[in-house]
Amino acid sequence: MLSSLTRNLTVARFIDRPNRFIVRCEAPGLGRLRAHMPNPGRMWELLLPAVRLWLAPAPRAADSTRRTAYTVVAVERDGEPVLVHTHASNDVARRLVQQRRIPGLEDAEILAAEVKVGHSRFDFLLRRARQQVLMEVKSVTLFGNQMAMFPDAPTLRGRRHLEELATQSSRGARPVVLFLVHSRRVDRFLPDYHTDLEFAHTLLRLRSQLDVVVAAIGWRPALGLPRRVDRLPIDWSMLAREAQDGGAYLLLLRLTRAHSVRIGKLGTRRFDAGYYLYVGSAMRNLTARINRHLRKTKTHHWHIDYLRAVASEVTAMPIRSSRRRECEISRDLDRFMKRGPAGFGCSDCACPVHLYVQRDNPLHDPRFHQVLQAHRMPDRATGIAPAR
Ligand SMILES: [Zn+2]
Repeated sequence: MLSSLTRNLTVARFIDRPNRFIVRCEAPGLGRLRAHMPNPGRMWELLLPAVRLWLAPAPRAADSTRRTAYTVVAVERDGEPVLVHTHASNDVARRLVQQRRIPGLEDAEILAAEVKVGHSRFDFLLRRARQQVLMEVKSVTLFGNQMAMFPDAPTLRGRRHLEELATQSSRGARPVVLFLVHSRRVDRFLPDYHTDLEFAHTLLRLRSQLDVVVAAIGWRPALGLPRRVDRLPIDWSMLAREAQDGGAYLLLLRLTRAHSVRIGKLGTRRFDAGYYLYVGSAMRNLTARINRHLRKTKTHHWHIDYLRAVASEVTAMPIRSSRRRECEISRDLDRFMKRGPAGFGCSDCACPVHLYVQRDNPLHDPRFHQVLQAHRMPDRATGIAPAR
């Protein structure tokens, strides 16, 4: 499948993603076009304005219901392609296992693909040491300078897969979960406990019943099968320590027009149209705090409650941590965003403000993703974000 996809690659520039399955882009000689996105993840840090995409001609369906002539295969990050085509990623996993090139899985032989067990379907059935075991492949496209994480959006299906796989575990025959990381710039992996705490806890709880293998591969522009495969470690003790329902959070609010809003004791302040980032923290019950912020109607307790009432969109980003880090995050945002009204959201600390604003969406700004990743992917030894 990979070779059929990479035979006639077209390079395009990303414009936007109107829904999960479609991107709009522009390619030399083709002009503006819509392409199929075969990955349901968020990929916020990849799909930045004008980023380079690798497109393949879409297979012509017999019923011709398909409305896009191209499929996105890869997205550029730091000068290298990141394979985002999830089916192609499974094909890569199959070929690397067949060629015995995945460290930790050299003894495995593939017996079947798309295997149905009960009501579930698993990616592969393997033979290892004369026993049959199931294998599920997860494609990892989220990574920072040193660490890769999965999933990049909450996945109930992913968690159920882990639970169902674990029920097939027996002495000497543990089902395999293979996380295939599409970058060789990283040296470790953790489940993304910020985005999906339940998935992280499930993996932690079931780790002795599963054989969890993380393999990292790097891609070249021609998207040929990578030659080198590295096995990455998982720091389970760090995961147990940091994957808690506490820490900091960012709320991204959009104001489609200017508002004058009375902010409790702070008084009435004017807020221009734009995107606002608020930094808060809840060292316990972080999920409940975030869910409270997402509700529009409630009694107003914090400064942010008044602003949230006039916002048209709200996105929450937890940054779970055993250590209080909201003021550091606030200082990092201060380096490139405009400050909101003095005193907003910082009654309990010495910061001038915990609210920032800019005209364009920070989710489309690589500087924002640097800050988010620096705090979400902390240094292994100390649990402290590396100095930048
Ligand atoms: Zn502060």
